[in-house]
Amino acid sequence: MDKNKKTNKIELSIIVAMYNEEAVVKAFFEKILSILTKMQVTYEIICVDDGSTDTTLSLLYQFSVPNEQIKVISFSRNFGKEIALSAGLDFANGQAVIFIDADLQDPPELIEQFYALWKEGYENVYGTRLTRKSDSFFKKTTATLFYSIFNKLSETQMPSNAGDFRLIGPKAIKALRRIREKRRFMKGLYTWVGFRSISVPYERQKRVAGHSKFTFWSLWNFALEGITSHSSILMRSWTYLGLISVLLAIILAIHLLYDYVVSNNNPNGFYLTILTILFFGSVQITSLGIIGEYISRIHEEVKGRPLYIVEQTYNLEEE
Ligand code: UDP
Ligand code: MG
Repeated sequence: MDKNKKTNKIELSIIVAMYNEEAVVKAFFEKILSILTKMQVTYEIICVDDGSTDTTLSLLYQFSVPNEQIKVISFSRNFGKEIALSAGLDFANGQAVIFIDADLQDPPELIEQFYALWKEGYENVYGTRLTRKSDSFFKKTTATLFYSIFNKLSETQMPSNAGDFRLIGPKAIKALRRIREKRRFMKGLYTWVGFRSISVPYERQKRVAGHSKFTFWSLWNFALEGITSHSSILMRSWTYLGLISVLLAIILAIHLLYDYVVSNNNPNGFYLTILTILFFGSVQITSLGIIGEYISRIHEEVKGRPLYIVEQTYNLEEE
């Protein structure tokens, strides 16, 4: 993939993943175009239609016909936001990219500030949510819990309350493109690649229209993805628990032996047996489960499937 030829022409690539966003497409373009025009930068807007089942794709085509700076990638099915953003990154021609949600929860006004900070030399300018007024109490608490657990367990530290809304400079883009793992947690990867980073605090707005695409269950899986793909501590901790339980078993054996030989007491074998079986059984099952988590990930990587399948592109050269 040779992106160098084109990179000098376009300064900013705006990348937006859309999944059933027909309600917000129009508002999104109006807002973002007015800001980009005001900024007087050369730009492209790459819209990744993540297998929408509503009219999102046809709306996107309508917008891209009169404006060749609006580019569309459509997936053959829903691959998820992380993969959609990665596809946008692969196709981007700009020197810097900006990831933004379609629903205008991330205020596009900040793009100007992101851009200025990039010009000052930051490779990773990320928006941080000041408060989570637009989120429910439940989402707020679980998010806080997730960030604190992630940062305790993970080998990469992630800024709390930062989302995908950010600007990535050319060096970080190059680095991110080299990461081809399929099970990906982008927020961890931005930090993993490193480079000079700066946070821009902002107030996250309510969705202009439509509803969130993430259910509790998908967020739970997403959190699990984040932790397992950036940390092996879950897998390793079971080794220690195993060692401790072996130690307990040895102590117990010595105690029973002592009781029998020195005090001539017969231990109550039935309860002890049940307890031991239950204890070791549960340790084994849990550790098997955790190993399974990782093996399933290895399995997925080993299959070597492409990250995504593009169905069509518009205003973009096919790879
Ligand atoms: N999105 C996507 N694929 C998905 C789910 C979401 O491309 O499978 C997009 C969605 O269209 C939106 C962005 O990701 O532009 C954020 O989604 P949403 O607003 O539903 O998430 P929330 O703001 O509730 O976290
Ligand atoms: Mg949203």
